[in-house]
Amino acid sequence: MQETALTGLDAWLDTALAELSGFRSEDRPGWTREVFSEPYRASRAWTAARMRGAGLQVHQDAAGNLVGRLPGTNPAAPPLVTGSHTDTVDGGGRYDGVVGVLGALAAVQVLAERGIRLQRDLLVVDFLGEESNPFGLSCLGSRALAGELTAADLARTDYRGRTLAAAYEDFGLDPAALLAAAPWTGTRRPHAYVELHIEQGPVLEERGTPIGIVTAITGIERLVASFTGSPDHAGTRPMDDRRDAMVAAAEAVLAVRAEGCGAPEHGVATVTRLENASPAPNVVPSLVRLYGEVRSVDETWLAGTRARLAGEIAARAAGFVVEADLRWSTDNQVVRAAAGVQDLAAQAADVAGIEWAPIPSGATHDAVHMARLAPMGMIFVPSAGGRSHCPEEFTPTARITTGVNVLAETLLRLDTHEFAQ
Ligand SMILES: [Zn+2]
Repeated sequence: MQETALTGLDAWLDTALAELSGFRSEDRPGWTREVFSEPYRASRAWTAARMRGAGLQVHQDAAGNLVGRLPGTNPAAPPLVTGSHTDTVDGGGRYDGVVGVLGALAAVQVLAERGIRLQRDLLVVDFLGEESNPFGLSCLGSRALAGELTAADLARTDYRGRTLAAAYEDFGLDPAALLAAAPWTGTRRPHAYVELHIEQGPVLEERGTPIGIVTAITGIERLVASFTGSPDHAGTRPMDDRRDAMVAAAEAVLAVRAEGCGAPEHGVATVTRLENASPAPNVVPSLVRLYGEVRSVDETWLAGTRARLAGEIAARAAGFVVEADLRWSTDNQVVRAAAGVQDLAAQAADVAGIEWAPIPSGATHDAVHMARLAPMGMIFVPSAGGRSHCPEEFTPTARITTGVNVLAETLLRLDTHEFAQ
């Protein structure tokens, strides 16, 4: 497991990363490969071929996940699962998700080179559509595996009015079969799930730590706030006699920021959008809508965010005689990585003399849904400059290889590990 001894693997990863990034929408910025798009469809044939090249038996399941199976010596035992996704955000990069799929195939090669055959089946999964899409739903494939995709989800529409069900059908999948089969629930639960991923933030690089072992994946509370004031002539209404909804919304932007700054542990709070209902350039804004989100791995703090922000935003709005109406929704609960998987990943890094650090994930992943089925863990490698979801997203291949080796060793340990019930 020496970082320097695997130049062959570096070359394989380099080539594979370059080839996969070639499947992209030419008319979009960066490396855009959105779920259900033609480049995505074409790329999955390439990914399936790469899975076969690594010695896996490949099929696409009812949920559209590409699954490569490496048979173990005891096929009756619950399988180990690893993988990630190969779709991207619009204008995205080459590493988010891709590192977890290609890295898993590289880990299969590491095990083969060491002459190791696992007792359990190892399933390498390229989950369908992990990124958010025009239907407003992320993690399509892992959600379906966990039995969390619903008929109401399939009725969601994109901006052109096309349903998610129609998108599945156009992609060659049967929505009815998809809902009927949550193939990994019940008795088919995996033994464990571990996912290799880029950090997508700056912490590991800034600390000079090559491996992050994820402790928890962030919870997300989403906010839509409406501010109602009074539409008046912007030229004649005196400043001290206005009910300006935009000013109240601006105060709310600052309140949301202050909430994030006051978080005890990896808390962030962001206003992503403001809308003025009127396009008029000379009318005091009377209806402004604000969209925001608050994230943290601290459940207690996150649970209190609604009440704290409701009080603060209403008080600030009242100072401008504006009414504030807040609507909240929980996008994700906090999901903790299994202590057993974290411990084995730490041992895997330790035996190789690779420095690691515990780290929370501020982004969500397929692992959130897999955690409903099996003990879950994630291994992070650094992102250059902390950049992600942009064309500049980059991780040096040697860093990925370090992650691959820790992943391979973790899988080896998970193979024989008995989790406490
Ligand atoms: Zn991802």
